[in-house]
Amino acid sequence: MKAIARPGVVPYIAAWSGEQLHRRPVIYSGRGGIAYADEQPEDRDQHGVLWNGRALAQGTGRPEYGEVHPERQRVAMQYLLCQVCGQPADRDDRGVLWLVEDNRGDWQGWPERLMTTHPPVCLPCAGKAVEQCPHLVGRSVAVRVRDSSTCAVYGRIWSSSAFGRPVRTAVKDVVEFGSPSARWVLAGQLVRSLDGCTFVDLQQELARLS
Ligand SMILES: [Zn+2]
Repeated sequence: MKAIARPGVVPYIAAWSGEQLHRRPVIYSGRGGIAYADEQPEDRDQHGVLWNGRALAQGTGRPEYGEVHPERQRVAMQYLLCQVCGQPADRDDRGVLWLVEDNRGDWQGWPERLMTTHPPVCLPCAGKAVEQCPHLVGRSVAVRVRDSSTCAVYGRIWSSSAFGRPVRTAVKDVVEFGSPSARWVLAGQLVRSLDGCTFVDLQQELARLS
């Protein structure tokens, strides 16, 4: 498939149409839960969770903005890379910069302990995002996060069946490492929980760029 010129703002974590999803037969694992029939050691993370595979060919075909590439999202989340450009996210003494959907009413002390699938951002990309998506301004908040840990995955839940093989359910959910469901999820995104959060004024942060 022919590659097209990449528009300037295709996020690093977005999937491209040229990156086909691996559709591999899923069977019961001898240790409980699910496994691939042709499983390789790299199909699981260090917590033993099975990951969804997708070809790696960033920039091939069309960007699929609504689809997150499992491996690039996982790398960005693991290494705190900007979800838009894939470079290291911005960090200062108050922590790493995140743009999160404003749900301040959700609980006292929000966003402490917020579990998110969205990797952090760098300052230039935060500036561009706000410029190009003005609706973000009212709906998101900029937060500096001092401590965060990879604690869960988001993915499709499978279940046992009467047919001799596991079945794919309609449910996608956040599953914590070590929980019983962790053996039944096909992970698509890595989740971090945010701690030591400080709200910051994005315009003030951006002023450092000029
Ligand atoms: Zn960036």
